[in-house]
Amino acid sequence: MDFLLEKNTTTPPILKIYVCEILSLFCTSFSAGADVIITNTYQASISGFVQHLKISEKEAYDLIMQSVHYVRTACDRFAQEYPELDQPKPLIVGSVGPYGASLHDASEYTGSYAATTSVETMREWHRPRIAALVEAGVDLLALETIPCRVEAEMLLDLIKEFPNIKAWLAFSCKQDGKSIANGENFQETVRRCYDLNPRQLVAVGANCLAPRLVESLFKDINKGRRQNPVPLIVYPNSGESYNVEQGWIDREKCEPVDTYIPHWLDMGITWVGGCCRTYATDVTRIKNQAKLWQCKR
Ligand SMILES: [Zn+2]
Repeated sequence: MDFLLEKNTTTPPILKIYVCEILSLFCTSFSAGADVIITNTYQASISGFVQHLKISEKEAYDLIMQSVHYVRTACDRFAQEYPELDQPKPLIVGSVGPYGASLHDASEYTGSYAATTSVETMREWHRPRIAALVEAGVDLLALETIPCRVEAEMLLDLIKEFPNIKAWLAFSCKQDGKSIANGENFQETVRRCYDLNPRQLVAVGANCLAPRLVESLFKDINKGRRQNPVPLIVYPNSGESYNVEQGWIDREKCEPVDTYIPHWLDMGITWVGGCCRTYATDVTRIKNQAKLWQCKR
């Protein structure tokens, strides 16, 4: 991992160290059996980097592109070091988190900024970060943890400016098992969003939710759509609760994500994985469950 430390002399020191950790993390995910690896650009934006790193817009754009190169480097290096494993290369997916993640006021978890932010403001914020990911050659975009319908609809329109890229769209959801974070009905929103851009969407669903909520959110989502089903994706967190004083709690009360996998696959969900507080061991177990499920069919 020292390679980038030595060669990449124009990068600020803290980013160089971060790069090493990130490369190591990507290698861990790959070795655990991940078919898809997501860049660490969830919160990355041109304006955010310009403001907080005191760099130019061009440098900020290049930094987002570099994040894709790091994933590719990790994949190539892993394949070189472990040729005997002969694993297919994972898809490199560019993470596009919500506009609210740039506001640092927790509104990304509720979508409340949708009422006070114009669609144009969101569009202008997203456009260059998406352009950088696409230019760097990601295989797919992850429009993820989106809390409000208005931003999702804008993103599905915006990616038409990049007609050769495909994407998945994943919402963040409330605890009620029926709504996205901003309160709109999940199933209606999923169907409506898919119909807005079926040519570029590989899947629509949810991420970073408790696994126990998946069934009620996704059940019968494609009822009555036999001719035109929405391809579905879910990658939940571990199901733990977050407490401001104690951090993440109640892990012992959570069923591991992999125990849900056969049922989710039975429900027609085709993309499954893990988000916050899921680890390489979870990836391996999820993969094993998916393989077992396939063998039984
Ligand atoms: Zn998460």
